[in-house]
Amino acid sequence: MALPAVLFSELREAVGPEHVITEPERLRVYECDGLTGHRAMPEVVVLPDSTEEVQAVLRACHRERVPFVARGAGTGLSGGATPFAGGAVVALSRMNRIVELDLESQRVVVEPGVANLDVTRAVAGAGFFFAPDPSSQQVCTIGGNVAENSGGAHCLKHGFTVHHVTGLTLVLADGEVVELGGKALDPAGPDLLGVIVGSEGTLGIVTQVTLRVVRQPETVRTLLAGFESTDAAGEAVSEIVAAGVLPAALEMMDRLTIEAAELAVAPGYPAGAGAVLLVELDGVGSQVAEDADTVERICLECGAFELRRADDDAARALLWKGRKSAFAAMGRLATDYYVQDGVVPRTQLPTVLRRIEALSRAHDLRVGNVFHAGDGNLHPLVLYDAEQGETERARKLAEAILEACLDAGGSLTGEHGVGMDKACRMPRMFSERDLATFERLRRAFDPEGLCNPGKVIPTPRLCGEVPGPYRAHPLERIGIAERL
Ligand SMILES: Cc1cc2nc3c(=O)[nH]c(=O)nc-3n(C[C@H](O)[C@H](O)[C@H](O)COP(=O)(O)OP(=O)(O)OC[C@H]3O[C@@H](n4cnc5c(N)ncnc54)[C@H](O)[C@@H]3O)c2cc1C
Repeated sequence: MALPAVLFSELREAVGPEHVITEPERLRVYECDGLTGHRAMPEVVVLPDSTEEVQAVLRACHRERVPFVARGAGTGLSGGATPFAGGAVVALSRMNRIVELDLESQRVVVEPGVANLDVTRAVAGAGFFFAPDPSSQQVCTIGGNVAENSGGAHCLKHGFTVHHVTGLTLVLADGEVVELGGKALDPAGPDLLGVIVGSEGTLGIVTQVTLRVVRQPETVRTLLAGFESTDAAGEAVSEIVAAGVLPAALEMMDRLTIEAAELAVAPGYPAGAGAVLLVELDGVGSQVAEDADTVERICLECGAFELRRADDDAARALLWKGRKSAFAAMGRLATDYYVQDGVVPRTQLPTVLRRIEALSRAHDLRVGNVFHAGDGNLHPLVLYDAEQGETERARKLAEAILEACLDAGGSLTGEHGVGMDKACRMPRMFSERDLATFERLRRAFDPEGLCNPGKVIPTPRLCGEVPGPYRAHPLERIGIAERL
């Protein structure tokens, strides 16, 4: 789609000519996010520096009916920030200021381009931290976290992004600015904050966020247990939770992932382990000590053959080293890998892991598993070699794994979002009426469907059909049917 010249001049006036990108070689940087298999070239990338500039950009796009996509750091793994071909990308990287630290209220107000870890860095000296901790936290932005309702290893106890956002500013597709919530919890009226967090950039562009930060715990203790198999480790996970212990983090890695981590960063995990469990406990010292004893007892009862404890930062960092580098470490075992993200009820973990093993054999591709076991949030890593023509087989295997999660009563995504990757799987989990309701909600914010079209909700419903801004059905056009 060729955009009108008047739009370019208006965008340049809104944000300054140096912040409007149109050269093909520079546009290429924005053609995909972390899901690199999906690519599309935008016609223009705009980098606004304030809510007012975002407002001016969206007003111009709205007038010309130009679809746009918000972009943070582009680390998303579901194609959420993949551009609409020929449309606009609104990149929020210049809006990276911490606006206010109000630690008496345990609140921090930030612009959307602030990196996740920078929030904790800003408050750590005063004894606070920002709990949602995606593994990409050094670079991924708060705007992206809000859009994806991102999680991380420590969300089992402390909650996901949605539990740490108390207010935000949103610019709607027509340029209207909406303020939701503030520093207080639970604002009156319907939970619109809850609607925006996790909406994957489909309802507007977030330009300011008020975050809740929490006090650093008095004591943190990390335990590592080595097991013969993921079955035994999975049983320990269920037993720990059933015993009433709520760890801050409860993570599992399987044999292949341990092998990759050893090759990449040599964390020295128990030799020959078929699975390791990492359990982090935090809170008041006496409770942590009691919980640690319970966890160790359960791990031994479930067959752990080695236990390690870490009480100080250096020892803890060593135990976490392998887990934190697990995704990247897969590069030691294969040229390409696809990260799947699905959820299963915790009790189904051993069954689903066995199913994944069988699927891996049937597709003749290796799968490593590293995951938030406490949440039942699996991240199977499908290893393949694109140059050997294995891409399609890898995609089919990743899809079959997702089907196994759904068959077990689980969900399409735990934290990476639906984006463009899984939109066509939504009817597998939601009824036609559910999807129609989602669509109506979306239209209430963005009647013309300009904001991140083609993501999350399959429009139209079938995968093979062309996504994009809403196109009226012929019956609507001649006035026989009406879209609600
Ligand atoms: C190595 C690696 C590890 C990861 N680990 C985790 C993990 O542990 N947990 C986890 O949850 N995720 C993880 N992710 C996925 C990703 O980092 C998160 O989804 C993150 O929140 C994306 O942030 P971003 O700034 O990169 O957003 P982008 O990728 O730029 O965008 C993601 C979505 O947010 C929308 N968006 C961005 N900014 C705004 C805004 N201001 N207003 C409205 N919409 C906006 C975009 O349109 C898009 O739909 C990982 C990714 C990688 C590459």
